[in-house]
Amino acid sequence: MQIVKGSERIVGLGASDPGAGKVIWAPKKSIWITFMTATGLSLAPSTFSWSALALFLFLTGVTLCAGHSVGMHRRLIHNSFSCPLWLEYVLVYLGVLVGMAGPFGMMRQHDLRDWAQRQKVCHDYLCHRREIFLDYFWQVHCDIELDQPPGFVLEDRLQRDKVYRWMERTWMLQQAPLALALYFMGGWSYVIWGVALRVCVSVTGHWLVGHFAHHEYRETNDAMSWRVENASVQGRDVKIAGFISMGESWHNNHHAFPGSAKIGLFPGQPDPGWWFISLLERMGLAWNIKTPANMAPRKEVVRLPDNGRGWKICQLRKLIWRRTFGRAQ
Ligand SMILES: [Zn+2]
Ligand SMILES: [Zn+2]
Repeated sequence: MQIVKGSERIVGLGASDPGAGKVIWAPKKSIWITFMTATGLSLAPSTFSWSALALFLFLTGVTLCAGHSVGMHRRLIHNSFSCPLWLEYVLVYLGVLVGMAGPFGMMRQHDLRDWAQRQKVCHDYLCHRREIFLDYFWQVHCDIELDQPPGFVLEDRLQRDKVYRWMERTWMLQQAPLALALYFMGGWSYVIWGVALRVCVSVTGHWLVGHFAHHEYRETNDAMSWRVENASVQGRDVKIAGFISMGESWHNNHHAFPGSAKIGLFPGQPDPGWWFISLLERMGLAWNIKTPANMAPRKEVVRLPDNGRGWKICQLRKLIWRRTFGRAQ
């Protein structure tokens, strides 16, 4: 098997196999997300207030945009722009507050997936190839154990960084100070909406976008502007999630240009993460910003004939209906 290098941190590729392995239940993250989901969904209706809803929207937006998309993904994982270290800490901390994993855990998951998806063979788990309900259980409640995994080596500066090591050890606990502050601001209503429901919606939404952005549904063939040659799975654009995913769901572009700070590349592809990086640049807080315009071309990336339309809402509704009830609407 021809093994392609996928990330700076994935090493020791000689005997590695991205196709063989088993999916195992991950008790810690499973219990964590089950608790957040059960608490959030069961108590949100009885604790609803307009201010709790506004708080939910504000905290979800800030942690997903500045935290997950810009801090964790575009800065820490892909190094797509430079910024002062104090700002990197703030952004990554906001990403930790999303409640998905610590910074190193996020990097490991992301890089392994990225690497596997570029090989000719890829385990169903790493390619989101299974049915929607099984894929949910796998991604949100389980981990993959490859028989012959590649190595993962963090950059020296990160490995030695005490702040990131602390965030990694305590990522679940980081909801506690926020919950306490919210309790004093607005009681249990703010804690339920600002922590439990927000973590449930963010983690579930992240998985949902990942599922539709990789699964080979018939409808998704439209949602491509680029093809990465010899990759076992292509990224697809999930148009209806473009804005709420902070630009992350223009995933076909991301597979073509993983190191780009800008993910929404075409007109009509809103990219709030990119807007935020542009704002930081205007404030003198971001520089060395990479986009396809200043990056070296990749020979394995092929531009497809005029497309980039993404999915329409009616397509997605029909698809979910069919997957759920097993027949056309
Ligand atoms: Zn992907
Ligand atoms: Zn990425």
